[in-house]
Amino acid sequence: MVFFRKEEVAANQPTTTPEEGEFTALQQAIEKASLPQAAAAIAAGELSRLKKTDQSLPEYAITHSYLTFLAALPWKRATDDHLYFKQVQVLLDKEHYGLAQVKERVVEFLAVQNLREQKKYDLLVVDDEQIARTNLGYVLAKEGYRVETAANGLEALSQLQKRRFDLVLTDLKMDKMDGNQLLEAAKQLDSDTQVVMITGFATVGSAVEALRKGAAHYLPKPVNFDELRAVIRQILNNKQRLQLSRGPVLCFTGPPGTGKTSIGRGIAAALGRKFVRISLAGLKDEAELRGHRRTYVGAMPGRILNEIKRVGVKNPVFMLDEIDKIGNDFQGDASAVLLELLDPEQNTHFSDHYLDIPFDLSSAIFIATANVIENIPGPLRDRLERIEFAGYTEREKLSIAQQFLVPRQLSAASLEEQALIFEAAAILKIIRDHTREAGLRGLEREIAAVCRKLARLCVVDQTVNHGMQVDAELVAKLLGPPKYAHAAGDTRGRIGVAAGLAWTEAGGEIMYVEAGIMKGTQQLILTGSLGQVLQESARTALSYIRSQAETFGIEADFFSGRDIHIHLPSGAISKDGPSAGLALALALISLLTRRHVRPDVAMTGELSLTGRILPVAGLREKLLAAQREHMSTIIVPAANSADVQRLEAEIVEGLEVVLVDDFTQVVEQALEC
Ligand code: ADP
Repeated sequence: MVFFRKEEVAANQPTTTPEEGEFTALQQAIEKASLPQAAAAIAAGELSRLKKTDQSLPEYAITHSYLTFLAALPWKRATDDHLYFKQVQVLLDKEHYGLAQVKERVVEFLAVQNLREQKKYDLLVVDDEQIARTNLGYVLAKEGYRVETAANGLEALSQLQKRRFDLVLTDLKMDKMDGNQLLEAAKQLDSDTQVVMITGFATVGSAVEALRKGAAHYLPKPVNFDELRAVIRQILNNKQRLQLSRGPVLCFTGPPGTGKTSIGRGIAAALGRKFVRISLAGLKDEAELRGHRRTYVGAMPGRILNEIKRVGVKNPVFMLDEIDKIGNDFQGDASAVLLELLDPEQNTHFSDHYLDIPFDLSSAIFIATANVIENIPGPLRDRLERIEFAGYTEREKLSIAQQFLVPRQLSAASLEEQALIFEAAAILKIIRDHTREAGLRGLEREIAAVCRKLARLCVVDQTVNHGMQVDAELVAKLLGPPKYAHAAGDTRGRIGVAAGLAWTEAGGEIMYVEAGIMKGTQQLILTGSLGQVLQESARTALSYIRSQAETFGIEADFFSGRDIHIHLPSGAISKDGPSAGLALALALISLLTRRHVRPDVAMTGELSLTGRILPVAGLREKLLAAQREHMSTIIVPAANSADVQRLEAEIVEGLEVVLVDDFTQVVEQALEC
């Protein structure tokens, strides 16, 4: 008997070099990734190339990173949906206050998703041989399809007339009505019905004829059941994809901080899916989305596949944020990439230049967000279904802060145990003095700041005790002087300054119009980054006043030997739109009659050259802005009265909305005596 010492055994073991170890690890990772056939072939080719490449060459690192990326992609990995449908509403309500219409539409969307996934397909098996019928029926029922049978073409036709079937599997040669005749009749009844022809007389001619007449596939007898299952699965999958492609992609629109991302996360949570979000704002190059070809040095995959790799599953809820903000100087066709991504017919083979192998993204749920949907290019916009998120009233902000933001920020600052109580007055103080927004981002940030400062007091000074009330006074001390003063805070109005209500991407805003007159050469000077439409509104307002000078008690030649200057403050921000017409004309009248404009009056409305007052858009956000600024009277075109009536009572609370159809009414309402 020969004995070896331990060291000798170890020395005789085949040793692996570090490179070999690396190859094996890579190979195992690729095997584990269960790549589709085409990708597996490419991976094998690249791996054998890597083996032959010298490690010191740049090609080695490039191929190695490529294969690592390839292996890390979730080609098959997906989370299982666990949609407890009755729970969806509960889950959304648990995390979100209000937003009734948004939630309703989201629940409808998920309901369709749910039904689609649970959908059982109806199949009709037609064969004059009973044994063949029964066998086929049995195999397909075992696959989970609902199967009916018919003994001949006529019997099948009568069933098709009574109800719809997703797929008909028919013998070709039959008495009374053969498979081809049945195919024609079935297609006439419903062109969506798919027909698979089966025959024992497999001739190329009959196959071609059946396919020409619209059969989806052709199988010879005796039927290979594996082939049959695969064919049927493929036909029905395609059909489902087509149905999906008819469904829209949700696009959440509205000002920042109104809960769009949050609801997106809610959908993912309700479905048990992972959530991914990429911002498209300022995107400059198609390669950012689709990656660079590997021929470029330092090439990388695009952001879409990078995110999919990061999240590790191919079916997340994928939020494409700010789809309306893709940079104007975008290189390439952004819409084309996004259309490819959002179209279920195309996203089964999404192409990333770096990967260079199609990747199936069809099981992801895409949701877009935009501040202004009109800025999205036409073909892309057509694919989107808009769901509007509106700004919140002060009361809504207070409730959301009490129920969600304060508890979340207290916990983020590890203050749960102190059981601090934020008084409503304290939250209102933050809302009024430290934020000016339609949404909640600023409010959440300020609450977070208060909580951090409280945490500091708790540790350093130990002045925070259990169950302490956080009141307005403490908030004022912690946050310092108010960040914003209210526009209506002035007790007396000014001459030549009128408050217009503007709609911006961030919600409504008060926009002041200032007018001045001076010696000159009858010029109208316009400043404040005014767009074309706004400049024309100013000219129209001036011409209207010149033509109606007498009505307003202004001397007829007030313009001769003078210049008029109209300025809109915040000159760095470009402004446009027709709805400042009333404010422009009122600032001018105030200037020319030397009457003060009431400081608590704001207005919106387009003014025509003949003095007609035309309706405007964005009333809800504008009235919310007026409320935020503590205005009391709002002048709105009478033509908008239906819109005003549709608004919830809370939006017009504390506001006197005056509907006007003549400019003299505006003067009466807005000028002090
Ligand atoms: P957006 O995506 O529209 O910019 P977010 O979803 O990021 O807005 O919302 C900003 C913050 O406000 C988040 O913390 C979010 O949870 C919260 N929020 C917004 N709307 C609501 C709501 N209706 N109920 C509860 N929290 C909300």
